Amino acid sequence: MKCPICGFEDTKVVDSRPTGDDSIRRRRECLSCRFRFTTYEYIEAGPIFVIKKDGSREIFDRNKIMTGLVKACYKRPVSNAQLDNIISEIESSVANSMRREISSSEIGSMVMDSLRKLDEVSYVRFASVYREFKDVDTFMKELKELKNSQLNPEKKNT
Ligand SMILES: [Zn+2]
Repeated sequence: MKCPICGFEDTKVVDSRPTGDDSIRRRRECLSCRFRFTTYEYIEAGPIFVIKKDGSREIFDRNKIMTGLVKACYKRPVSNAQLDNIISEIESSVANSMRREISSSEIGSMVMDSLRKLDEVSYVRFASVYREFKDVDTFMKELKELKNSQLNPEKKNT
């Protein structure tokens, strides 16, 4: 580790402790000018796991989510790049929160949030598969909520 002040190549670690969020904080001292500084070391991220409704876990699979999205957006003006972005956003939000797991229902709602902004037909298609609408009433209720959120775009609809 190079000293940020004098550029000397060697430092000693004077203190080292975990921060509680997957990183280790190290206090270092330059062996030449004795300047002290702090570094954070992060453990390299492994795979993200998806916790399914039945409690089982599987590795986060972009292709699997993509398949669902492509079906929902069939013949709709939504590009593959846009769908790719949706999945990347989910991945980075998990990574940024320093978690290694996400539930399938969290993925579902994140996808729905993004699709709703892109294309309403794709959104309703995806939602109908994902939410497993039991009957026409639940489906109509969802449509109504969609309409309301479009009339009041400022109102957060969760
Ligand atoms: Zn130095």
